[in-house]
Amino acid sequence: MKFVVTAGPTREPIDPIRFLSNRSSGKMGYAIASAAIEEGHEVTLISGPVALSPPPSARLIQVTTSDQMCDAVHGALAKTDVLVMCAAVADYKPASTANEKIKKRDKAFSLELIPTRDILKSLPKRRDYLVVGFAAETNEVEKQAREKLRHKNCDMIVANDVSGSDIGMESDENAVTIFLRDGEMKKISRAPKEKIAHALVKIILETSKKF
Ligand code: C5P
Repeated sequence: MKFVVTAGPTREPIDPIRFLSNRSSGKMGYAIASAAIEEGHEVTLISGPVALSPPPSARLIQVTTSDQMCDAVHGALAKTDVLVMCAAVADYKPASTANEKIKKRDKAFSLELIPTRDILKSLPKRRDYLVVGFAAETNEVEKQAREKLRHKNCDMIVANDVSGSDIGMESDENAVTIFLRDGEMKKISRAPKEKIAHALVKIILETSKKF
């Protein structure tokens, strides 16, 4: 099967040397890409800026901003069987980017932010590939994940609780709950991200046969 996996954060530029971003390390997405390759699948890995080595046989597309990631996903979708949107795409970006470094002044400064393009929502409703979204939540994990499944038109949402500092974002371990379009729910208990990734690839393959 052909997988497109997105991973890592995006950076939304404020000026030539500053940006808005988040704590995503890319570890979960890279682990999913590696697991899929180890199980014999073809992987295109679309990655934001991370400090990780990509699996050698992945086709790597490096991007920086959410707009670049959106264009790269749309460009990679032809003949795809599964899209795994593991990247922590910024939800907002500066309304404009200054051409020169913004100078420090002695008064308050506000930055106008506008929503980024939502990549999952931008996908066609009728399609022949499975779409897996992620939800990193600090509260009401199940409620938020089920809402995202519907609003973002996903076949599957992988939810992780990022309220603790020793699990989820930046950590080597994760624990996830998976919500499927047909209402089914599956849990993968706390384990290294590599192990979670293999379990996820297995569930993705089962689900792609079902839907
Ligand atoms: O709404 P939230 O950002 O929590 O949703 C997370 C899911 O949506 C992830 O799968 C992420 O990759 C995706 N996303 C997206 N486009 C955005 C923001 C998030 O596809 N602009």
